[in-house]
Amino acid sequence: ISWELACERLDRAAAMINDTEPVSVEGPIHIGIDLGTADVVLMAVDGEGEPVAVFLEWTEVVRDGVVVDFVGACDVVRKFVAMAEERLGIEITEASTSFPPGTDARLSTNILETAGLEVTHVEDEPSCVASLLELDKAAVVDIGGGTTGTAIVKDGDIVFSDDEPTGGKHITLTIAGHYDVDLEKAEEYKRKAEEYKILPIAKPTLERVSDIVAAHMKGHEVDSILLSGGTCCLPGIETIFEKELKLPVHLPSQPLMLTPLSIASLA
Ligand code: ATP
Repeated sequence: ISWELACERLDRAAAMINDTEPVSVEGPIHIGIDLGTADVVLMAVDGEGEPVAVFLEWTEVVRDGVVVDFVGACDVVRKFVAMAEERLGIEITEASTSFPPGTDARLSTNILETAGLEVTHVEDEPSCVASLLELDKAAVVDIGGGTTGTAIVKDGDIVFSDDEPTGGKHITLTIAGHYDVDLEKAEEYKRKAEEYKILPIAKPTLERVSDIVAAHMKGHEVDSILLSGGTCCLPGIETIFEKELKLPVHLPSQPLMLTPLSIASLA
């Protein structure tokens, strides 16, 4: 789908996060489940690919490619499935999911299966995004909580991927130091970035992230960069990457919704 349509869908998805109000839907519904380090998201899309239900919870069930709370993850998935069934008035028996490149797909599929779902599609995260947006010669850069991952896409396929341990948590640490507050407070300030002038404080970390991305892109043909992951919610983040990497940078309207939408659209 086009970039414009994707951003419209991301905005509609963000507007319905954790909305349990029943809606009437027609045709086949596809479910995508994104098990992140910092959050778990279930997104349902209709036959046209339009989001019809989104549930998100901040919870640490996966860390560095390892499930740290298997039971907790299964519980969240079960809970979200029940909520989606309630909202959409349907029975949900199957879903798609994904995993960070370089990690084991079973990390995610085991959780879905234990939660009673049949896994219909499983693909690594940047491949899901690449297939939704039909990317070519692009770098999908996922800046999450703990890591930054780069996936180089050529004609829809991932030709290279790697990640490094620098992400949103490092920005939170810098904010905590700058304002002399604890991490919880720093996280709160980060999410009110304009009020607390976070971008200048985050800049050194983001420059380090762009150095990581530049090293990952070395030797590959890349025309544009697509940002994804929660850290990209920081307003103005794309300006730093454009300046450092000297390539067009695309920032989705709702960075946290891009992978879930891509997973749900896999069918
Ligand atoms: P990882 O990629 O490290 O495995 P993940 O995929 O779970 O983690 P995301 O959910 O993409 O990570 O991003 C989590 C990060 O996004 C956290 O560091 C969080 O602080 C940050 N984040 C979430 N919302 C915002 C916001 N509004 N402004 C800035 N940062 C945000």
